[in-house]
Amino acid sequence: MKPYAFDLDERDIKRERQKARELRQSQWWKRRCAKGRCHYCGKETPPAELTMDHIVPVARGGKTTKGNVVPACKDCNNKKKQLLPMEWQEYLLSLQIK
Ligand SMILES: [Zn+2]
Repeated sequence: MKPYAFDLDERDIKRERQKARELRQSQWWKRRCAKGRCHYCGKETPPAELTMDHIVPVARGGKTTKGNVVPACKDCNNKKKQLLPMEWQEYLLSLQIK
């Protein structure tokens, strides 16, 4: 896996997004969300408000596998989209310090 490949095929990205839609319907995912906790900040979040987040984003070559998707609250999901990978790492570290 090349986490920072930017020359991704559009079809690969579409395939991973489609897989994500299917994984969201799975019992595995529903069980993960039923815990009602954000993977990143640990905040208690109603299962309906948890979103599926790719740890390595699809756009950077991440795959839709059980090891690469986690439930995230809306705050974390938004932050992750806005921040650069390095800034996101710093955000995660700041959470651990608290
Ligand atoms: Zn969170």
